[in-house]
Amino acid sequence: MRGVLLLGAAHYPELWTSEVFAKDLELMKRIGLNVVRVAEFTWSLLEPIEGRYDFVWLHELVDSYGRNGIRVVLGTPTATPPPWLVKKYPDVLPVDFNGVPARYGVRREYCPNNPVYRTLTERIVRRLASEFRDDGNVIGFQIDNEVHWGEASSWRYCYCPYCIARFREYLRARYGDIDTLNKAMGTLVWSHRFTDFDEITPPKPPFDLYNRSLTIEWLRFRSLSWVEYVRFQASILKEVAPDKFVTTNLMGLYPEIDYYELCRDLDVCSTDVYPKFGADTYDPAFIALIYDATRNMSRNRRFIVMELQAGATDGYGYVSPEGIGVFKLGVSPEPGEIRKWVYQAVAHGAEGVLFWNWRTNCIGKEQFWHGILDHDGIPRRRFNEVEKVFSELYRIGKAVDGTSVEAKTAVLLSYDSLWAADVIERGYYSHSYVGELIKAYKALWLNRVEVDVIPPNSTFESYGVIVAPFLYLADGGLVDRLREFVYRGGVLLLTPRAFTKDEYNRVRIDDTKIQELTGVKIKEYTRLPADSEALVKFTEWSPIMHGMTVRGSSWLEVYEPVTANPIAYTKWSWLSDEPIVTLNTYGKGETIAIGTVLPQDVLTNLVKEILVFKNIAPIIHEDDYDPSIEYYARVMGTGKLIFIINHGATDRKAKFELKNITEVTDLLTDKKIEPGKIELPLRAHDVKILSVK
Ligand SMILES: [Zn+2]
Repeated sequence: MRGVLLLGAAHYPELWTSEVFAKDLELMKRIGLNVVRVAEFTWSLLEPIEGRYDFVWLHELVDSYGRNGIRVVLGTPTATPPPWLVKKYPDVLPVDFNGVPARYGVRREYCPNNPVYRTLTERIVRRLASEFRDDGNVIGFQIDNEVHWGEASSWRYCYCPYCIARFREYLRARYGDIDTLNKAMGTLVWSHRFTDFDEITPPKPPFDLYNRSLTIEWLRFRSLSWVEYVRFQASILKEVAPDKFVTTNLMGLYPEIDYYELCRDLDVCSTDVYPKFGADTYDPAFIALIYDATRNMSRNRRFIVMELQAGATDGYGYVSPEGIGVFKLGVSPEPGEIRKWVYQAVAHGAEGVLFWNWRTNCIGKEQFWHGILDHDGIPRRRFNEVEKVFSELYRIGKAVDGTSVEAKTAVLLSYDSLWAADVIERGYYSHSYVGELIKAYKALWLNRVEVDVIPPNSTFESYGVIVAPFLYLADGGLVDRLREFVYRGGVLLLTPRAFTKDEYNRVRIDDTKIQELTGVKIKEYTRLPADSEALVKFTEWSPIMHGMTVRGSSWLEVYEPVTANPIAYTKWSWLSDEPIVTLNTYGKGETIAIGTVLPQDVLTNLVKEILVFKNIAPIIHEDDYDPSIEYYARVMGTGKLIFIINHGATDRKAKFELKNITEVTDLLTDKKIEPGKIELPLRAHDVKILSVK
């Protein structure tokens, strides 16, 4: 994969005639496409009858791609079990809480914990890998497709006998004996003291009704079920075809599987991104967050975009705890938007971009999920735009190769906290974990610094500033690592409800290690009424935000300092004049605790002052801040590529200064630019890349 970016699309030639396939290949060559992902939904072709395989057609396809200089990523076809399989082995179907199995007819109609499905998976995956292990045109395998419970099974949980049995085994392995579990989980509440693991049944939504400790374990187990299923397939693929890379395509920031764990053993991480799916507008910062998380989900920071939106998305029905809903047909990407999405991915470290898909389907399902080509296959606006960006990337590929994103700041993404706050105690708070995560990320991103979005089991060594939003549930190991991070000189920014729960999702009290880290005890807290705001008055001597008064909402916790200095006091009803923001010096670093939910602009300003305080320089310096322009950088040695992306739908002028730079080249035009203060005109959705030294 080194040397040139992977540029491609998902392709479904099995749905079209051989004449169409021949035309597709011609157009693929014209556009400079160098990779396709194929076959991930073709089990009923590869194994039309149980035990009878047909790989001839797929070999012919792969050969055709190869003759045209196109490499292939093969999908393992397990996302779509064929009808014969479900008819013969109906207990592979996911089962709802009442014991009713899902009906066949959509996709993903299987439970990854089902032993028969594991056997059938192994057979087809082993066969696929054996068929293509010596085929030089195949560069890698994608495991399944967007693994999760859903679509076929409402509410995204499986209560089949295998899941329940494995859940009990998971608990036995984790707790050892039932008394230990009873003690850890506080099962005496409501008289749930178990005498045996086989008395345990998993909870269901609304999870709020159930034991908190048991429920967090059920959510961890659900995630682990997919982690183990992906590892199961990965081990077969690596055993049979060790030379091919193995990946699985993630769904952006899908909250139900710990993607850091899911990707831990994969060669490269990949994700699917549809900025305009299900909404008329989107926040480019959220797309940036997905990339900065995906890069860190990868064990080696390598990732590709396996599916990038190529045209308007289809409508889509869904089942949620609130009922049945549907996403409207998408709004088509504006001119320049597709090219911009490609560059945003590359700016954040992507080593390749594949579109979904090549040609818009006419049949079956997803008939209006638009590809690079429309239904009729005639090259139009979107095709021309992809052709343009692909040709540009070929031209600049060498300059991009070997560069990487290096971040001195990070945001902590804790799935445990997400599940504890947003899933189990859904609706308890006026703010959500995911909302606060996005806000924390944006507070850094808007300040023009590179950001890593990292899991709690990181070492934190390379960062100067870590923002840990709504860190509701934290285990002792995380507390220790955060202490070490601050002790050796880092700045840790905490928002309300940090460390509320321990690893068993129990409320924590009197933890001296946390008190040393934060320097405070929580004196009193309250949820704020919907129409109420708390004033936050920073002191004149505060090193950040000094003398400023801002407003918080949703939550108020006031602190009793132990070693910390209050740097802001609140004004709100009976809690007026109590410390609400504190700064604790611990070792060489500082912990800042904020006791209310701040709006985006205030948090962004506060983070800006922390970055100045820590001498973390922005990628560029600007007098007139333009929030519609994104700046992001990839570095190698002393050189740097600065991506300047206009996310606005109008023409802008990027005005900024580069300090300590002697040489600036516009990478796309090869023109030299005078260093220092720079002005660059940017059309709507336009992108410039500066190579600087
Ligand atoms: Zn199951």
